[in-house]
Amino acid sequence: MWEFDPSPETADPKLKRRYDLFINGAFVAPKSGKYFDSINPANEQKLAEIALAGREDVDAAYAAAQRAFDTTWGRMPGRERAKYLYRIARLLQDRAREFAVAETLDGGKPVKESRDFDVPMCAAHFFYHAGWADKLEYVAPGRRVAPLGVVGQVIPWNFPLLMLAWKLAPALAMGNTVVLKPAETTSITCLKFAEILQDAGLPPGVVNFVTGAGETGAAVLNHPVPAKIAFTGSTEVGKIIMRSLAGTEKKMTLELGGKAANIVFDDAPLDQAVEGIVNGIFFNQGHVCCAGSRLLVHEPVAAAVLAKLKNRIKVLRVGDPMDKNTDIGAINSQAQLQRIQELVKSGTKEGAEMFQPACRLPAKGFYFPPTIFSGVSMSHRIAREEIFGPVLSILTFRTVDEAIEKANNTAYGLSAGVWTDKGSRILKMSVELKAGVVWANTYNKFDPTSPFGGYKESGFGREGGRQGLLDYAKLT
Ligand code: NAD
Repeated sequence: MWEFDPSPETADPKLKRRYDLFINGAFVAPKSGKYFDSINPANEQKLAEIALAGREDVDAAYAAAQRAFDTTWGRMPGRERAKYLYRIARLLQDRAREFAVAETLDGGKPVKESRDFDVPMCAAHFFYHAGWADKLEYVAPGRRVAPLGVVGQVIPWNFPLLMLAWKLAPALAMGNTVVLKPAETTSITCLKFAEILQDAGLPPGVVNFVTGAGETGAAVLNHPVPAKIAFTGSTEVGKIIMRSLAGTEKKMTLELGGKAANIVFDDAPLDQAVEGIVNGIFFNQGHVCCAGSRLLVHEPVAAAVLAKLKNRIKVLRVGDPMDKNTDIGAINSQAQLQRIQELVKSGTKEGAEMFQPACRLPAKGFYFPPTIFSGVSMSHRIAREEIFGPVLSILTFRTVDEAIEKANNTAYGLSAGVWTDKGSRILKMSVELKAGVVWANTYNKFDPTSPFGGYKESGFGREGGRQGLLDYAKLT
């Protein structure tokens, strides 16, 4: 493999040593006085201390959100709210490099992804929803739409800024106020985002950020004030939330795990498909809910696709996420790395054949090489469980019906991919596949106008597009 000279990104992420909670437009210390460390998964060094929010802090955040809803935001005309959303998007663009670097340091993803995907997509969501804020009468023609009130939101660590945008932008455009909790391993860009909200002059209390782990999350979601809760995270936690909210009148949307099938037919352009497969599973270290983690490949081309994939992953660069050449950065946490290692072990134990290219991983930090399993059967754990790492499981099929049956034979239903030259087959597959998104001859494409969400244990509700806005509206 050619060696590139290192190309480190050098922008200053302007991190503070300590981050407080963001409540009622100001940074405030947690009532308990407790803080926890946020570390850089690429080298295990401490980046900052993050406030640990307890029940009283969550109460204060909801009180501020309720006040803001009653006195300012809930009454403000949509055209005025739109100006704030535009301002937020523009301010983020102004500080794009700083935010990209902070996102990479905190989460471990390659800086080229934070720079080219996470930050621009986050801004795009605010621009898109700014466009809706003064046109809400067209969201549901013939009906009257109104905000729900205060909403409680909890997000995961794989796309900290983007998940924040998916949650905040539609809620705010519709006139709701928010209490949001980021994931405990990736709170920094959320709290930096609070600086943008301050600079945009957003009225105090419209958005409140409380930080902490599962206990803080439970306090946010089980609180009596919010009219709606929105959660993105694992199916396991989604089930706990459903149980605890059963019988309440709260509106709920859950965006949960996935085990997508990426399906390659023998008439597909194979080189293009291989790029799509690689993008589908190795993008962001496979920390992607809709990752194409199961490759279903048509038997006549299975050997050719496997050979091309092996060649392709030999030249992926694994290592320092701050290097602009890096394709696969750091795994987000030690716990996530251990989960990947455990599932990969089960793959070999259950009889699948593993391929990993030779690559030197940094001595410090959490890393895992790109991994391909062939000879996988539907009963293997690596074919059924969400690995959430750079690990691809390959299965084969002979007929269209077998491909559909295998693709749908999962508890999840978030996304799928189809690679074929035939338009009619794409249409058939997109009807038959039980997945919220079906990409054809591409993979992992996102746009604020497209609704995203799951079937089955991947959750319910949509984020993005008109449908996403409707999930934050009261219709009469
Ligand atoms: P997780 O469920 O462990 O945590 C998600 C969030 O919930 C975190 O902020 C966490 O602190 C909080 N939390 C944990 N326990 C809680 C509880 N009992 N009550 C309330 N909140 C609690 O998930 P994760 O490991 O951070 O994220 C990975 C998962 O997220 C994967 O399963 C992935 O598929 C899913 N995900 C889904 C989507 C989607 O749009 N469907 C998008 C991104 C990630």
